[in-house]
Amino acid sequence: IKLIPVDIVDILERAYEIFSQQLKVRGITVDWDITPPLAPVMTDPGRLEQVFINLLINARDAIEAKAEICHNDAGLKKKITIRGYLLDEKVHVEVEDTGTGVPADVAEKIFQPFFTTKEVGKGTGLGLSISYGIIKESSGLISIKETSEKGAVFQVILPAYRSKE
Ligand code: ADP
Ligand code: MG
Repeated sequence: IKLIPVDIVDILERAYEIFSQQLKVRGITVDWDITPPLAPVMTDPGRLEQVFINLLINARDAIEAKAEICHNDAGLKKKITIRGYLLDEKVHVEVEDTGTGVPADVAEKIFQPFFTTKEVGKGTGLGLSISYGIIKESSGLISIKETSEKGAVFQVILPAYRSKE
C-alpha cells in the first residue's frame, strides 16, 4: 500500500457518484453537510473510496430493510447524510442513515469478518471488516457513533496531514 495526502471530499464524491443513480431510483435522498476547511489525510485513495462505498451500501440496505418492515412506506424518511468536519486536528466523516439502526447484540460483531445479518447472496459480511483494516492502515478509527430505531451513524476519523514546510 502507498499512502499519499488526499482530499477526502474528492473521495466521498467519487464513492457517491457510483451510487447516486440507484439511490435516486429507490427514493433515497443524500444530504451533504461538509464544514470547510477540512485538511488532507494520508491514505490510499482507492482503498478509502472502498470504505465509503461499503458505508453507502450498508446505509442503503438498512433503509431498504426498514422499508420492508414498515408496511406503511408512505411516511418513511429515506435519507443518507454525508457529514465532514475537522475537530482536534482530525478529519471526521459521518455517514448517517434513516434505516433500521444496529441492535446492541449485532453491533458487537459487525467488524468481524463474515458476520452478516443479510440473506445469503445479499451480504458477504466482509465490508466492515475490510473497512476496519483500511482505516487502521491510515492510522484512523471507524466505529458506530450513534444508533437508534431512527437509524445509524457510522464515523471515520483520520489524522489531518500537515506538510512540514
Ligand atoms: P454485509 O453488509 O455484507 O452484511 P458488513 O461487514 O458491511 O457486511 O456489515 C455487517 C453487518 O453490520 C450487516 O449485516 C448489518 O447487520 C450491520 N450493519 C452495517 N451497517 C449498518 C447500518 N448502516 N445500519 C444497520 N446495520 C448495519
Ligand atoms: Mg456491507
